[in-house]
Amino acid sequence: MVRHSQYDVCIAGAGIIGLSIAFRLAEAGKRVLILDRKGMAAEASAGNAGALAFADIEPLASPGIILKAPKWLFDPLGPLSLPLGYLPRILPWLLRFFRASMPDRVAGSTRAQTALMDLARAETESLFEAAGVAGLLRRDGALFLYEGERAWKASLAMWKTRGAHGIEFEHVTGSRLAALQPGLGPTVTHATFVPQWLTVSDPLDVTTCIGKAAIDRGAVFQTAEVTDIEQDEYGVVLMLSDGTAVRSGEAVIASGAWSHRLAATLGDSIPLETERGYNTTLPAGAFDLKRQLVIPEEGFVLTRLDTGVRIGGAVELGGLERAPDFRRSEIMVEKARRIVPGLKTDNGRQWMGFRPSLPDSLPVIGRSPRAHRVIYAFGHGHLGLTQSAATARLVRDLVLGAAPAIDLSPYRPQRFS
Ligand SMILES: Cc1cc2nc3c(=O)[nH]c(=O)nc-3n(C[C@H](O)[C@H](O)[C@H](O)COP(=O)(O)OP(=O)(O)OC[C@H]3O[C@@H](n4cnc5c(N)ncnc54)[C@H](O)[C@@H]3O)c2cc1C
Repeated sequence: MVRHSQYDVCIAGAGIIGLSIAFRLAEAGKRVLILDRKGMAAEASAGNAGALAFADIEPLASPGIILKAPKWLFDPLGPLSLPLGYLPRILPWLLRFFRASMPDRVAGSTRAQTALMDLARAETESLFEAAGVAGLLRRDGALFLYEGERAWKASLAMWKTRGAHGIEFEHVTGSRLAALQPGLGPTVTHATFVPQWLTVSDPLDVTTCIGKAAIDRGAVFQTAEVTDIEQDEYGVVLMLSDGTAVRSGEAVIASGAWSHRLAATLGDSIPLETERGYNTTLPAGAFDLKRQLVIPEEGFVLTRLDTGVRIGGAVELGGLERAPDFRRSEIMVEKARRIVPGLKTDNGRQWMGFRPSLPDSLPVIGRSPRAHRVIYAFGHGHLGLTQSAATARLVRDLVLGAAPAIDLSPYRPQRFS
């Protein structure tokens, strides 16, 4: 076995998290190797809804979700589904999710999420600028839509919390609402406008452009599947599925919803699950969207991308192996027509992706408890694009031995043991 490391850092996973980290490390002068079994931006980072949702500071694990879940689960094509066959597998995760939803825990996770979001806001501007992709940001805000006064009133406590954390918003109705988004259906009576919410022109473009910017700064990309990781006195060895191995000084596991499998090879047990999500991308011109529309009661969004109008969301707790059930994509398009009746629904492209999710709705960012040369950066759930630049900053701090930009203890991998 060679002891000489050609690379300072090897990153397993070329989604938005791995590539943002690669960019920051290459920029800092590190010799970086990026490995991905499928290529750049092959999974969740390609097909997401494109929101930089800095206002989403409440963890998903919360009393509100616990109250809504039974109603949602009762509807087989509703915003949340749990195939019965997968229940025994996911039960331990669900129990942890339930515990994390208790009010005493929620206060702490909201603080941790807010700290990460504040960092994300600053770091996104800085990373996008440095990587030359600032032109792919859209600054037209988002409109949260409510069908009926009751639904809107039920959201007010959430807006109050967000307001207390400095998030700007404006409740709108009537002509102001119609001006922000013409063509809404009659069921939409109330809305809340969030001006600082950003979106990207296309998440696939953004992710691959950040990857290319990392390569321009010297990072190397290789298509390869990592099967095992070992640490020794010289560094880290990553075994690949073709039987070869690569050595580096340190490694970063940013393999999205599959990361726990690599952590397990080091002996770390991390309760990562996937919240599968669905969407349909309709051709550009399907509807004249002025900004992202969020439908909180139905758990989906409509996004204007350069490539078309994307309608998606939903959560299916169905694991990594089950075949997609694209009726979920169809039902969201149907519901979207109620929101914007002029929507042209022909020629849509359906997609399903794997959100990497931890039960307390916070990512894992930190060194492996069993192998200090391995850094974990995964589990961003619904917010991986939003928190990618902040994660890249924090991992760079760890690699460079600098004081982390925020307290890392809420995201430590050993919090589940
Ligand atoms: C429907 C939907 C909508 C969403 N909308 C938003 C949104 O609007 N805003 C937002 O912030 N987030 C959103 N998300 C979440 C976001 O997409 C994810 O959190 C994010 O993409 C995760 O990025 P990642 O780099 O961790 O994982 P991924 O993008 O999944 O990348 C992981 C990579 O690791 C590779 N890999 C895995 N195992 C191995 C291995 N053993 N060896 C080598 N490579 C490996 C995979 O091939 C993959 O390329 C959405 C998700 C879904 C599903």
